[in-house]
Amino acid sequence: MVYQALYRKWRPQTFDSIVGQTAITSTLKNAIVRGTVSHAFLFAGPRGTGKTSCAKIFAKALNCMHLQAGEPCNQCDNCLAADKGAMPDIIEIDAASNNGVDEIRNIRDKVKYAPTQGRVKVYIIDEVHMLSLGAFNALLKTLEEPPEHVVFILATTELQKVPATIISRTQRYQFKRIAKVDLEAQMQYVLEQEQIKYEPEALAVIAQVADGGMRDALSILDQLLSYETGQIKYADALKVTGFAAQAGVEQLLVQLLTQSPTKSLVQADKLLQEGASPKNLLTELIRLATAALVLVKAGKSASAQAAFLTDGVVTALKKVEMPRYFQLIELANTALLDLRYTNQQKIPLQVFIVKTSQAALVTAGDEKLAATLATLQQKVASLSEQLKALQANGSVAKVATRPTDVTKIKPTVAAKHTVKVASRDHNRQAVYQVLAQATKADLQAIKQIWPDLLSVLKVSERALLEVLEPVAASPKQVVMKCKYTLWFEKASSNSDLLTRLEAEIERLAKHAYTIVLVPDGDWLAVRKDFVTSHQKELRQQRGTSEKSDSDETALDETPVVTKAKALFGDTVNVKE
Ligand SMILES: [Zn+2]
Repeated sequence: MVYQALYRKWRPQTFDSIVGQTAITSTLKNAIVRGTVSHAFLFAGPRGTGKTSCAKIFAKALNCMHLQAGEPCNQCDNCLAADKGAMPDIIEIDAASNNGVDEIRNIRDKVKYAPTQGRVKVYIIDEVHMLSLGAFNALLKTLEEPPEHVVFILATTELQKVPATIISRTQRYQFKRIAKVDLEAQMQYVLEQEQIKYEPEALAVIAQVADGGMRDALSILDQLLSYETGQIKYADALKVTGFAAQAGVEQLLVQLLTQSPTKSLVQADKLLQEGASPKNLLTELIRLATAALVLVKAGKSASAQAAFLTDGVVTALKKVEMPRYFQLIELANTALLDLRYTNQQKIPLQVFIVKTSQAALVTAGDEKLAATLATLQQKVASLSEQLKALQANGSVAKVATRPTDVTKIKPTVAAKHTVKVASRDHNRQAVYQVLAQATKADLQAIKQIWPDLLSVLKVSERALLEVLEPVAASPKQVVMKCKYTLWFEKASSNSDLLTRLEAEIERLAKHAYTIVLVPDGDWLAVRKDFVTSHQKELRQQRGTSEKSDSDETALDETPVVTKAKALFGDTVNVKE
């Protein structure tokens, strides 16, 4: 049996079991009890705060045959069918993968038919902001005159991308980040039900990292359970979440602002050895310095303090003058930019540390340290020189495989992935090879395990993974589209991550696939090439399907059309 992630297993089944959104859930329950349910809802809010769960429960309640004070009974035929995803009147659309106008047009055509099994036809459109403009317009037409028996539930993490015309036609609910205490209580509940031992401090750390998202909190638990001996330990939680690093970075921040550069350099080295990257460190420092600014400004506010792990740090940071923070943030930003042009990643970080400390000494006006200052200036000058030299070779550095990544893994694996970054052309060829043997079943197999895959990866790796999307797969390989070219280079050279990813895919899907990465732009080009070179066949097929649109399965498909559907989804549009 495929491993079931905790966040899936413990997805709430009733409004009352949704954590931290009581105002919303009680309003929805009341509307159901009173029979005053509107035709369109918009659930907006950060990821993992219960939008989709709430939509599913709402859809069930609207069709439940034995409502329990606004809650679905979870036992009648309709509730059970809904849980299995077999309720014909609850239609879930993930706009992130179906952003075509045709999907929505399909709704427009079918929306007029009465529900077949339940009382209400419910359309749940997840990540609705991903719809194309054409699809939004088609949706708007339906929302303008919704039939009596239809309810739309739109969910989005990015409200600002949803057109105002859509928003104005919906009843809007804003989901909040879940409070830390609520996250901790729920994790505690789940672990006790699962009879898993845990250290309470571990849950506090996880709640902090999850940043208001229940899904993230449970995913981190999953990750700890998949690596460790079935227990949730504080030390492991620190490691997995990168929080060991956070405590260390907090120390570094205080040192940078109040002490000599030597201590900061030593501390930074220690953090690098523990696995942090210069980019991590700089990004974290900017985040913490920004939080510290709020702290200095807001004083006692508990939420301002919540960004930090230790009280000692909070006290020290409060004493620092605001301009020092601005200075640090500015210097860290410069260093981050410099990082992009070199693979000697330590140098921009060191320049940053020395410059920041130097500013601290000047501000302090400490005469005794004047000598140190002179030495420091020399050091900065020499580091800056090195950096300039490196920047001159920047383009070479960017494509090269990071030496640290290679040393960590077996030579054969390193070699395998190094080939992939060799050239973009080579990469395009690799993609074509996969396309030649791609099947829809293989792509679906990978898409199916994708959410679980995210949950077992390290938090630090997940950020990188979120820009990846499986777009085609053959029985042996999977093509993953990479949102940004810069990330493509980073992901390509991170053979450690790719190897782990392949191992996890094999574990979850029970089948081995090798990963081929492709930047977004290249993928579009490959796609276009494919459609262009088979335009005639595709157009013929399209002509046929328009004549008999009611019975798609009966059509004879040419191999090319079958392939196009496998590669690009059900809708293949040929631009004339
Ligand atoms: Zn029911």
